[in-house]
Amino acid sequence: MGASAAAPGASVVGRFAPSPTGVMHAGNIFAALAGWLIVRSMGGKMVLRLEDLDRERSKGCYVDRIQRDFERLGLTWDEGPFFQHDRDDAYQEAFERLAQAAAVYPCYCTRADLHAASAPHRGEKRVYPGTCRHLSASERAKREGEGRRAAWRVEVPDLAVTVDDLVQGPYCQNLATECGDFLVRRSDGAFAYQLAVVVDDAAQGVSLVVRGVDLLCSTPQQMFLQRALGLPEPRYAHVPLLVGECDRRLSKRDHDAGLDALLERFGTSEGIIGHIAGITGLAGSCEPASPEALLASFDLKAWVGRMADKVQMLWH
Ligand code: GLU
Repeated sequence: MGASAAAPGASVVGRFAPSPTGVMHAGNIFAALAGWLIVRSMGGKMVLRLEDLDRERSKGCYVDRIQRDFERLGLTWDEGPFFQHDRDDAYQEAFERLAQAAAVYPCYCTRADLHAASAPHRGEKRVYPGTCRHLSASERAKREGEGRRAAWRVEVPDLAVTVDDLVQGPYCQNLATECGDFLVRRSDGAFAYQLAVVVDDAAQGVSLVVRGVDLLCSTPQQMFLQRALGLPEPRYAHVPLLVGECDRRLSKRDHDAGLDALLERFGTSEGIIGHIAGITGLAGSCEPASPEALLASFDLKAWVGRMADKVQMLWH
């Protein structure tokens, strides 16, 4: 349900990829609306994927609620919902392909080891110092013997990867110095987000990823995995984050920005969509409107051209 007919001959495929860990808030709605408008304005179709990789934080009640809320807001999709909990075999197969290319190694570092190894500044990524990269077979056996369970990291080269982002422009990251060997599987056996998202985007034919700019720094890692696995590379558009006062990113704990509070404040779905579109420049005014109605006047280049700040926009 909630699906609309796929645009005939559409070559652009976008996706909604919510994590079912809470009720949507204004920030999620803005990112979803921007994604929907960008993809639909290119004649593309949308896939819905529920990212329930984190089994503990994902809840069945949010799975249902999120789908109903997308429908109610007029954010339609053409395929899915797909669930990450159905995809372990595909992740395992990709993991094995990486392992055969000798690109992954077991890492026995504890969280405490990692924290001791580097002290990132606020907002900075923690670069893995490579502690377990060159362990000998006997050193590995010793750690296994101590009952330590290995996580798995992918070995990255000293390589600069550039994303040509449709909103942010070119973004370049050196994998070795700005990222380091990153996790593809956790020590509890769960596959890491970076691996799952790449395998899913490819399997679901996603050719345009629209999401919050907080994930821009993950994109070079994902492109590295796409290349290592021989998967097609989607295009990317990272949209600004909606922030509260003091530049604080909105979260599911901001109840006044949660969907129920928004419905109370604006009365209707169109009221919410129109307000969010107006304050973020997706529309010329805050008048109530459906996504479908906004599509007629939406233009990605013009929207980006009007942005005073591509990283954050104030929620109010
Ligand atoms: N599931 C992630 C989230 O809800 C989005 C991941 C992605 O878009 O790649 O934040």
